[in-house]
Amino acid sequence: MTGANEKVCLITGCSSGLGIGLAVELAQRGHIVIATMRNLDKQAALRAALSDAEVETEIAALDVQHGPGFDSLVNRIVEEHTRIDVLVNNAGVGFLLATEDANEEHIQQVLDINVMGVVRGTRSVIPHMRRARRGHVVNISSLAGLVGQPFNEIYCASKFAVEGYTEAMASYMAPAFGIHFTSVLSGRIDTEFGANAARLVQGTAPVEREDYRPIREKYLAGAARRSSPESGIVQSAAEVAAIVANCIELDSPPVRLITSAWAEAMCRIKTEADPTGRRMQQAVIDVFLEGKEVE
Ligand code: NAP
Repeated sequence: MTGANEKVCLITGCSSGLGIGLAVELAQRGHIVIATMRNLDKQAALRAALSDAEVETEIAALDVQHGPGFDSLVNRIVEEHTRIDVLVNNAGVGFLLATEDANEEHIQQVLDINVMGVVRGTRSVIPHMRRARRGHVVNISSLAGLVGQPFNEIYCASKFAVEGYTEAMASYMAPAFGIHFTSVLSGRIDTEFGANAARLVQGTAPVEREDYRPIREKYLAGAARRSSPESGIVQSAAEVAAIVANCIELDSPPVRLITSAWAEAMCRIKTEADPTGRRMQQAVIDVFLEGKEVE
C-alpha cells in the first residue's frame, strides 16, 4: 500500500491480546504501525506474531499512565513520518470486585489506565491531527461501556467514561477538523484479559465479603459458560482486529462499532435506534452547535 491509503497508526498495549492482533492486522494491510507496550521485556509475543505473519512494525515503549512519554513519542512519529493518522487506545485493564471489596488504590489505577490513558493519548495526537485536518482516534471500549454488569462496576465506570468521551469528541472534532472518533465494543475476546485483571490485585488479599458469595458464584458460573468456545460468544483477537481495521479504512467511520452479534444483541435495548452512534452525533451537532430545537 502506498500514498493516501497508507496510514501511520500508533497502538497502545501491544504486549498481548488484541494489541498484538491489531498490530499484525494493520501491518498486513500495508499500514505503518508503531506498536507500543509499557514493558519492552514483554515484546517476544508480538515479535513472534509479526514474524509468523511475515510483517514488521516499529516497537516502542509507552506507558499510558505517563503523559510526557505519549507526547514525545507522538512528536517523534510526526517528525519521522510527517503525520499521525490513527491512534488506537487499546491498553486497558479489567477489574472484577464488588465496590466495597475493592481498595482505592486499585480503583484509581483502573480509572487512570482505562480513562486517563485514553485522554492522554488523545491530547498528544490532537494538535497534529487538527493541523492536518484529518485523523482517527479509535478507543477500545467494551460491551461494559454500555451495559453495567455485576462485579464489573469499576471497569464499567471506566468504559462508560470512554463512551462519553468518544461521543463528545465525535460531536465537534469530526465536523470541524475531520478527526473521527470511534469506540469499539466487544463482548468476550480470547486474550489474557481475565488473568491480567486478577494480577492487578495479586498479593493484596482483597476482601471478598460472604454476603456477595452467592451472587458472585452465579456470576462466575455464567462467565465461565460465556467464555467457553461452545458458547459461540468468544471472538478471537484476530477477528476483532480485522473488524477494527476495516473501520479504520473507512472514509467516514462510525462513532460506535460493535464487533459481534452477541454484543449487539446485548446492547440492543440501548442502541436499537442508533447502532452506529451517527444519529446521536448528528442530533448533538444540530442542537448544541447549530441551534436547532430538539426533535
Ligand atoms: P490483555 O491481553 O490483558 O491486554 C491488555 C494490554 O494493555 C496489555 O498489553 C497490557 O500491558 C496493556 N496495558 C495495561 N496497562 C498499561 C499501561 N499503563 N500502559 C500501556 N499498556 C498497558 O487484554 P485485551 O483483551 O487484549 O485488552 C485490550 C483492550 O480490549 C482493553 O482495553 C480491554 O478493556 C478491551 N476489551 C477486552 C475484552 C476481552 O474480553 N478480552 C472485551 C472487551 C474489551 P501489560 O502486558 O504490560 O500488562
